[in-house]
Amino acid sequence: MRYSKCVRCAGMVGWIGLVVNLTLLILKGFVGVIAGSQALVADAMYSAKDVVSSVLVIVGLKVSNRPLDREHPYGHGKIEFILSMIISIVFLAVTAFLFVHAVQVLMGDGEHKAPHLIALWVALISILVNVFMYFYTRCVSIEINSPMVRTLSKHHYADATSSIAVAVGIIGAHYLNMPWIDTLVAVFETLHLMYLGSEVFRESYKGLMDSSAPDEVRDKIHTLVRRVDGVKEVDELRTRLVGQEVCVDLLIQVDAEETVESADLISERIVERLTARIPHLGSVQVKFTAHEVTRHHSDGSIDETSRDRGLPSEGGA
Ligand SMILES: [Zn+2]
Ligand SMILES: [Zn+2]
Repeated sequence: MRYSKCVRCAGMVGWIGLVVNLTLLILKGFVGVIAGSQALVADAMYSAKDVVSSVLVIVGLKVSNRPLDREHPYGHGKIEFILSMIISIVFLAVTAFLFVHAVQVLMGDGEHKAPHLIALWVALISILVNVFMYFYTRCVSIEINSPMVRTLSKHHYADATSSIAVAVGIIGAHYLNMPWIDTLVAVFETLHLMYLGSEVFRESYKGLMDSSAPDEVRDKIHTLVRRVDGVKEVDELRTRLVGQEVCVDLLIQVDAEETVESADLISERIVERLTARIPHLGSVQVKFTAHEVTRHHSDGSIDETSRDRGLPSEGGA
């Protein structure tokens, strides 16, 4: 920590995000409707998304960090995926509704009316607040190195950009006599929002289906394990995502002469090595099989010694 007050500002990041974004959401939604700016109403959805992210930072982290218990021996990591899946569906429904509405207005032959200028002021406030929140959350994410807070800071950057588009749209509608431009901005915003929502949906689906970790993480694990003393070969490597954690199942070959104690030691070394190098490592299971030695006899026959000694060993991280 660079400053002592950073401890306090890091602890409050979820709550500040919640209050600030909820205020922006209500302000933009309300003013967007009364001022007749569809772009500002769509812009309110960006703040809605941040309200949800802030709640996830507060609640999700608490629940998924709850220790293992008898009913949930694999932890509570999946609650995050279940929550974000439900939220993404609601989010997709609302943005799709706004999108259809904006397209209908744009295509319809009704008279286009430029939004009231108060919408411009709200868009400007939103830009300022989001720029401030971007720097604030970025400071916190650097201090506490949290990927969740880093995502939050990226959101605020995107939100500021979106509010700039809204402001430009309202200025165009008002001063350039192109009242339809506000609706056009709304169409693009809702399209972008639907894309964001479907991305969250896909991520949570992958998490619920026990998808394996990305290839580069698998490759890194493979290389790390292969280099551990006593490991002859990695026969099997399975990974799955549980919440933010990566769980690993391994089947490795060790020397057939190895004792149970030394096999346990190898497994400990593997867990140690992975814990140090793989972020968000969950449980690690290591099973052993005897290294296959192929002996060639002088008469040309081959005999293989390959006994599965099946010494399961567990390690947690
Ligand atoms: Zn700070
Ligand atoms: Zn439980």
